[in-house]
Amino acid sequence: MTAQISWPNLPAAQQPEWPDSAALEYAQQRLRSMPPLVFAGECDTLTDRLADVAAGKAFVLMGGDCAETFVANTADSIKARLQTVLQMAVVLTYGASLPVVKVGRMAGQYFKPRSKPTEVRDGVELPSYKGDGINEIEFEADARRVNAARLVEAYHASCSTLNLVRAFTQGGFADLRMVHSWNQSFVGSSPVGQHYEKVASDIDRALAFMSACGRDPDEFRRTEFFAAHEALVLDYERPLTRIDSRTGKPYSVSGHFLWIGERTRQMDGAHIDFAATIHNPIGVKLGPTTTPELAVELANKLNPHKIPGRLTFITRMGHGQIRTVLPAIVQAIEESGHPVVWCCDPMHGNTKETSNGYKTRSYDEVIDEVFGFFEVHRSLGTHPGGLHIELTGDDVTECIGGVSGLSELDLEDRYETACDPRLNREQSVELAFHVADMLLKR
Ligand code: PEP
Ligand code: MN
Repeated sequence: MTAQISWPNLPAAQQPEWPDSAALEYAQQRLRSMPPLVFAGECDTLTDRLADVAAGKAFVLMGGDCAETFVANTADSIKARLQTVLQMAVVLTYGASLPVVKVGRMAGQYFKPRSKPTEVRDGVELPSYKGDGINEIEFEADARRVNAARLVEAYHASCSTLNLVRAFTQGGFADLRMVHSWNQSFVGSSPVGQHYEKVASDIDRALAFMSACGRDPDEFRRTEFFAAHEALVLDYERPLTRIDSRTGKPYSVSGHFLWIGERTRQMDGAHIDFAATIHNPIGVKLGPTTTPELAVELANKLNPHKIPGRLTFITRMGHGQIRTVLPAIVQAIEESGHPVVWCCDPMHGNTKETSNGYKTRSYDEVIDEVFGFFEVHRSLGTHPGGLHIELTGDDVTECIGGVSGLSELDLEDRYETACDPRLNREQSVELAFHVADMLLKR
């Protein structure tokens, strides 16, 4: 596991400028010596699961924070996010009549690309916040200083998150009946829930039928759950890339699934080279400027052997563009014979600023992009493979709309995100019911 990998010297966008090279070298040395957070065999399992998605036999749900933070790395916060993803997954499993592969934007989502390198407030200019793995969010010169020791802190925080997630998902907490009971209390207590009472009681009947038949499979008690984050800061990712002794191939051990963001997916850049090198299942975000040719070029470079499950395209077009831009991309990929997973991120193309200065997203626009995604795939006969959602398990007020009717004026109540606005627990579960309801009515 210790063989060094040599990385070519390619241009890398969005990298921090480390002020202290000795501190960076020390942090990287520490990372190189740390145990893996995930194992290569687990990554291969996820590739297999995603191969089922590519083949139309499963669905994938990715969900979690835009930016994880060290202060929110508590048992309560992790548990609430996990519960939310699990609740959504149960509803989607029923709606799609397909197994749902569960993936958290968790245990490594500590690095953020930024559209501007600096931030100005009241005439004061400071470096932008780049995620807790790099600097602090407080608008003070000291806090915003790039600090390589935080790379090691991000590793430890990810390690404790993953430890709790593994305990929860394997130790009985994620029992399907328990998850369903959370959904029932949601249905009973919120107006959104009442809206979807029929779907919830149908799920109830399906579970009651299974247990009446004496079915109590192990899958009810345990669940597979995988960790994903954006592979952004190469000084974190490269030291956590190891040669697997079993296969002799390089794997990132920083998370099961890594994706390359919209701002760093330059064809000849270091990020795409990194993704091409590792054997984990990988994703690439595709925004509205993506051409069909570029999508095919990316697929050729990242998955030359056309291994199903290896490559996921996470499209984030915006609700206004999904129906016009996506079809040609999907068609070109279909013609190329690449078995990609199509996953819809309905968040990043739908961010806007309110008149009172909050970055927000509207539930109606988010669900419209999701519906547009399903429409496009249905009309082309391809599989709408999954959803990628920024969410939290708490009652924050960051996105507007939904049955609860959160308005712009409510945003100031609990606007807590360190970066982009997330769906709260209620809006997330509502989205799952909304999609399930649409699938069931087909
Ligand atoms: C993100 O997923 O948080 C993100 C920055 O997305 P994108 O690269 O699609 O803008
Ligand atoms: Mn984001």
